[in-house]
Amino acid sequence: MAYDSENIFARILRGEIPCNKIYEDDHTLAFYDIAPQAETHVLVIPKGAYVSLDDFSEHASDVEIAALIKTVGKIARDLNLVEDGYRILSNMGKNGGQEVPHLHIHLFGGEPLGPMLTK
Ligand code: 5GP
Repeated sequence: MAYDSENIFARILRGEIPCNKIYEDDHTLAFYDIAPQAETHVLVIPKGAYVSLDDFSEHASDVEIAALIKTVGKIARDLNLVEDGYRILSNMGKNGGQEVPHLHIHLFGGEPLGPMLTK
């Protein structure tokens, strides 16, 4: 799947659409989800143009991959989610229910999150 540079997260990265930013560095951006599904619901995205985890894991540099994981861990610590625990999730493609075609890691916490999947 080709990268669509008009997707909503690409527009956030270009500053065309606002976001409630938590953290930014050379390779990543973290911001609050506009429709939170838990007490705390953060999105962590790479700045590079990657459609999904499939695209990212195949084409991103080691530096970019490390940066994304490090930012997830840092945000969880900064938001005091570590002691009580949290969940990360990345939806990929049709079966994964991915809506926005720019890789994003959901970070949920702040309350018990229940079973991993609802059937
Ligand atoms: P997906 O279903 O692709 O894994 O998740 C997309 C997420 O992006 C959803 O949780 C949705 O609420 C969030 N989202 C969609 N548009 C915006 C937006 O304009 N701003 C922010 N902060 N989040 C958005």
